[in-house]
Amino acid sequence: MNEWSKAISNFTADLGASGTYSGHRGLQIEEPLLFERDSEGRCGVDLPAPPKAKNRLGTNARKGRIGLPGISEPEIVRHFTRLSQKNYAIDTGLYPLGSCTMKHNPRLNEKMARLAGFADIHPLQPVSTVQGALAVIDQLAHWLKVLTGMPAVAMSPAAGAHGELCGMMAIRAAHQAKGETRNKVLVAESAHGTNPATAAACGFTVEAVPANARGRVDLAALKAQLGPDVAAVMLTNPNTCGLFETEIREISDAVHAAGAYFYCDGANFNAIVGRVRPADLGVDVMHINLHKTFSTPHGGGGPGAGPVVLAAALAPFAPLPWVVHGKNGFEVLEKAEGAATQALGRLKGFHGQMGMFVRALAYMMSHGADGLRQVASDAVLNANYVLAGLKDDLTAPFEGPCMHEALFDDRFLKDTGVTTLDVAKALIDEGFHPMTMYFPLVVHGALLIEPTETESKATLDRFIGVLKALAAEAREGKVDKFRAAPTLTPRRRLDETSAARQPVLRWKPEEPARTAAE
Ligand SMILES: *Cc1c(COP(=O)(O)O)cnc(C)c1O
Repeated sequence: MNEWSKAISNFTADLGASGTYSGHRGLQIEEPLLFERDSEGRCGVDLPAPPKAKNRLGTNARKGRIGLPGISEPEIVRHFTRLSQKNYAIDTGLYPLGSCTMKHNPRLNEKMARLAGFADIHPLQPVSTVQGALAVIDQLAHWLKVLTGMPAVAMSPAAGAHGELCGMMAIRAAHQAKGETRNKVLVAESAHGTNPATAAACGFTVEAVPANARGRVDLAALKAQLGPDVAAVMLTNPNTCGLFETEIREISDAVHAAGAYFYCDGANFNAIVGRVRPADLGVDVMHINLHKTFSTPHGGGGPGAGPVVLAAALAPFAPLPWVVHGKNGFEVLEKAEGAATQALGRLKGFHGQMGMFVRALAYMMSHGADGLRQVASDAVLNANYVLAGLKDDLTAPFEGPCMHEALFDDRFLKDTGVTTLDVAKALIDEGFHPMTMYFPLVVHGALLIEPTETESKATLDRFIGVLKALAAEAREGKVDKFRAAPTLTPRRRLDETSAARQPVLRWKPEEPARTAAE
């Protein structure tokens, strides 16, 4: 075999499904690992030869190559550019993941977050040199309190789940301060997995609260479960079925009457922001996923941020550091003393995710109060447009309109041989990122669609049209098509279970091929 056929056979043997000699498909270019491209002696930068130095490492000195791939600058630029082109992102198309609020990430936010006064500062700088950044934290905290009606907010948690940890630790600390031992936490059956996980991580036993036939918390069952051993109830409103908990006041009154606290998972705040203040619903503590409600969703430009708003009873336990108004401008309380004597310690090295604070505040200020109300209205309208457009083709488990996300179950696939997973894979061939599947668990074969307010009617029409066509094909018995999907992607259906259970996290060079003579 000559060099040239070898160069293409490597590709065609490994990746054969493409049906081309090169392994590429059109201008969608296959990309091996950097390590597979390694070529000894090649280098992307010009470095001067290192000066001779005495070996002070003894027998620990490295003898072989360090193992970094040798690769030239144009090759490395292409490598990462090609990988980035394989990435499906909120900037390339609809991302209807229910519960994730994958909304457009305004460029203005990015511009603000990159200002040197925010991007180039260090958390250990003297406080007098970062007054502007502290003012942003303080202003954002102010508006989070206004929007939720709560008197206090802990800014440092780094994500929703981290905020839950913060909130549940505050609840635990508050009970302890009262000398009460309460070891049980009630969690709605439809809850996000982080709710029971957080309660368990804080040492509580977790008990599920059943849902009623309307997809809401069963109030009578909840009341029966409440007692002197219950520390808190964890609920989401709107809940993960995309439904508003209409009996929320009765629920919070019952929780308080039992001496427990009401933790609200605020991940679904997008549906009610500017319209409902959680404090008015009786919420004692709630995290806010800045990276959902206030843009910059997962993969949309940065890390998460999960500030936690707290009722007065829980506020003294907020984790350090606290940004406070002092004599000479903003100050940072770093120790559990003075006003912060009962603070539950630190959850994060420093103040929180500064870039996310800037983005969230920019999002709020560019929308204004009326604009934020509009966010919630449009998000709910878009979800109901999807629900109404699909309810005769797919099956909706609950009656009536939804909030920010439309939930379907898999009854429409009954006896077709097609599953929720198959529908999701077929959607990928159609150029749509799938919706959230098999969550919430209370609904069989769930398909949870959250379009957010940032999608246009034209996009939603195309998405609805595709789902209608796929549902019709499932009914017509085109099982093979569904089982085979996706067929147009760089990789076909993957063994996701093995990938999760036995991930291959380390690349190892192939054994050199043995020669025929051996
Ligand atoms: C996203 C989400 C969470 C967790 O938030 P992270 O920021 O991903 O840690 C918790 N609950 C619900 C309902 C969510 O949608």
